[in-house]
Amino acid sequence: MTTARDGRGNLGAGIGFGYGDRVFLTDSEHETYLRRMPVRYARRGLAGIPEVCHVCGEPAVDGNPLQAAHRVPFNAGVRRWRLTPTWLDRPGNLRWAHRQRCNRLVELSEKDIEELVELLRRKSP
Ligand SMILES: [Zn+2]
Repeated sequence: MTTARDGRGNLGAGIGFGYGDRVFLTDSEHETYLRRMPVRYARRGLAGIPEVCHVCGEPAVDGNPLQAAHRVPFNAGVRRWRLTPTWLDRPGNLRWAHRQRCNRLVELSEKDIEELVELLRRKSP
């Protein structure tokens, strides 16, 4: 993984370009991950836990804490959409939401994911 900028400035700002990290897996990476899923580091890039849930706007409660939820789900993102773990775990793909009820509402619809991936493909090197 490189952290070098690729000189394309703000192309695709907000959807993961300009940071030097690849968006899509290579064939061999994909094959490897189908056999054994990569480790997630969802919270690594996130700032501290916010006061309230992204979905309902309520604070965490006992038994229902806020947790980092993926907009494009991690497993499907790797297996089906061939996105890199780095892209999937970047803050832009994560929202803090209650573990129960709200977490799954963060997830994009199949159609939205398809559109997003198509957009990423067009802009990807
Ligand atoms: Zn909530």
